[in-house]
Amino acid sequence: MGALARSTTRYPMLEPRFKYTRAFCTEEEIALAERAQQFVEQEIMPYRHDLEGGWHRDEKLALSTLHRLYAKCADLGLTKSNLPEKYGGLGLSPVVRQMINEELSRGDIGLATMVGKIHWIVSFMLAAKRDDLLQEFAPRLVGADAWTACVAITEPAGGANLEDPALEYRTVRTIARLEGDEYVLNGHKIWPGPAGPAYRFQSEHLKGHLGYWTVATTDPNLGEEGIGLFYVPPDAPGLTFSSPYEKMGFSWTDENVDIWYENVRIPKRYRIDTQPGEGARIVRGYVIGLGRLAGAARLTGLSQATLEIVLGWAQQREIAGTPMRERSMFAGMLGEMFRAIDLSRQYYLSVTWQVMHPELYGPPWSHEMIAKFSAARSFAGDTAEMVTNRAMEMMGSMGYAYESHVEKYMRDFKIVKMWLGGAQRDRLDIAQGLYGPFRWAGFDEWLATQQARA
Ligand SMILES: Cc1cc2nc3c(=O)[nH]c(=O)nc-3n(C[C@H](O)[C@H](O)[C@H](O)COP(=O)(O)OP(=O)(O)OC[C@H]3O[C@@H](n4cnc5c(N)ncnc54)[C@H](O)[C@@H]3O)c2cc1C
Repeated sequence: MGALARSTTRYPMLEPRFKYTRAFCTEEEIALAERAQQFVEQEIMPYRHDLEGGWHRDEKLALSTLHRLYAKCADLGLTKSNLPEKYGGLGLSPVVRQMINEELSRGDIGLATMVGKIHWIVSFMLAAKRDDLLQEFAPRLVGADAWTACVAITEPAGGANLEDPALEYRTVRTIARLEGDEYVLNGHKIWPGPAGPAYRFQSEHLKGHLGYWTVATTDPNLGEEGIGLFYVPPDAPGLTFSSPYEKMGFSWTDENVDIWYENVRIPKRYRIDTQPGEGARIVRGYVIGLGRLAGAARLTGLSQATLEIVLGWAQQREIAGTPMRERSMFAGMLGEMFRAIDLSRQYYLSVTWQVMHPELYGPPWSHEMIAKFSAARSFAGDTAEMVTNRAMEMMGSMGYAYESHVEKYMRDFKIVKMWLGGAQRDRLDIAQGLYGPFRWAGFDEWLATQQARA
C-alpha cells in the first residue's frame, strides 16, 4: 500500500495563468483563481477521502471534515462571491466564479456543489430583484458563520418532466395555495440536498440550514403562469424528511432526502417571483439553465484533477522499460484527455461570458441559451466519463484502488451529468434551441389524463 505518492510535477498548460482565456477575464480574476487553486492544494487535497469518511465511510469523520472545509470556504468568501457588494458580498463576475468553481471541484466536486447552492439561491433573489429578501438573508451570508441551503425541484413522478419545456410545468404536484397573506404548500419532493432535520447541519463549524427554495405551482393547469419559487424556512411546521439516500458518490457532501410538505405555511413575500410569468423564467433560466452551466465548470475541474493523477502515474510507471507517457498509444490517450478538458473549459467560459451579455445573446431562459448550457454540461459530462474511464484503464488495478482517487472521481462525476434532467434531456434541449420546443405524439392526450388526476 502507499505505492501511489501524489505527483508534485506541475504542468503549465493546466495552470490558471495558461488555461483561463483572457478574452473572458482579467489578470485580477486569474489571480483569484490562483488563490483558489492554492487553497485547494493546501486545505482540500489532503482531506479528499475524509470527506466521505475514508474507505470505511466513517460518518463522524465525513461530517466533521465537510463542515470544517466548508467553513474554510465560507471564510475565504467563496459562499458570498455572487452577492453584490451593497449587501456585503464580493460581487464577483460569473466568469471568475466559474473559474473558482472549477478549481474547487479539482479538490472535491461535492464540496464545490455545496458552496454553489448558496450562489444558486442568491441568483434567484437577484433575478427577481428581491432587495427585501437579499437584505433579510445578507447578514447570514456575509457573517462569520457558515450556513448551507437547498433547492427542491424533483418530484416522484419524474425529475426530467419538470425540466421539459413542452410540459410547461403541468406535471408539478407540489401545490402552493394562496390564503390571505400566506401560501400553504402541500407536496412531495425527492432527492433535494443538502436536506434533513436541522440538527444534521449544526456543528462546531456549521451554523445551520437556511432552508428550502422550493419549485411549486399555484395550479398545474395554469402551466407556466402557475409555476413559482417559494422559500420555506428549515423549521417550518409541516415539513418532514426521510432518512438520507445511500448512494454511489456525494456521500455526505450532498445529503439527499425526501421532503414532505403538509400544509406548510409561509408568508406571501416568500414567493420569490412577483411578476406574471417570472416564476417560469427563473426556474427555466436560473434554476435549471445556470445550474447546468455551473455543472459544466465542476465537471471540468474534476476531469483535470483526474488527468493530473494519471499524468503523474504515466511519468513514473514503466511499460517494458519505457515510461508509459513516452509510448505513443498512452501519449495519444493523454493528449485526447487534455483536448476534451480544454474544449469543455473554453466552451463553458465562452457561454458564461455570453450570459453576462444578454443584450447580445438573450436572457438565460431563452431556448438558445438553455441549449448552450445543456451543450456545456453534457460535453463536460461526456469528457469526465471518458477521462475517468481512460485514466483508470491506464492505471490498471491501481486506478481501481481507493488510494488512487480516480475511482472516487469516477463515482462522483456521474450524478453531475445526470441531475437537472440528465444527459438525454440536455441533448433534447440542444435540439429545441435549434428549432423550438416539440411535443411527443400522444402528448396532449396524456397531459389531459394528468390534468384530470391533478
Ligand atoms: C446526489 C444527487 C443530488 C441531487 N440534488 C438534487 C437537488 O438538490 N434538488 C432536486 O430537486 N433534485 C436533486 N436531485 C435529483 C435529480 O436532479 C433528478 O434525479 C434528475 O433530474 C433526474 O430525474 P429522475 O431521477 O426522476 O429521472 P427521470 O425523470 O425518470 O429520467 C430518467 C432518464 O430518462 C431521461 N428522460 C426523462 N424524460 C425524458 C424525455 N422526455 N426525453 C428523453 N429522455 C428523458 C432522463 O434524461 C434520464 O436519463 C439529486 C439527485 C442526486 C442523486
